[in-house]
Order: sequence, then C-alpha cells, then structure tokens
Amino acid sequence: MAVDPQLMSVVGVAAVGWTMVTAGRTKRMLELKKRARRCPACGRIIEGRTCDRHGN
Ligand SMILES: [Zn+2]
Repeated sequence: MAVDPQLMSVVGVAAVGWTMVTAGRTKRMLELKKRARRCPACGRIIEGRTCDRHGN
C-alpha cells in the first residue's frame, strides 16, 4: 500500500506547525509564570495589577 507523498507532506507541515505553536505557548506560559505574583491575602495568582478577588 503506497502512501500519498502529498498527504505525508501536509501531515509533516501540520506537525511542524503544531510543534512551533505548542513551543511558543509553553514559552509564553513560562514567562507569565515567572512574572506571576500571588496575593498575600488570598494566595491567588494576580493576573492584572491587583487581585481580582478583592476587586479594585
Ligand atoms: Zn487576593
């Protein structure tokens, strides 16, 4: 059974693209994690300037 070379190239490009997207997302998550601060009051990760649990 012969494998369609065009299909294989499409799968290859998709695999490379997926790897790049996943790597970029992981890197961004690590950078966010490094910058993440925890609220001293409730322990939640502060995503904005202030803890969203306590409002303003
Ligand atoms: Zn808080």
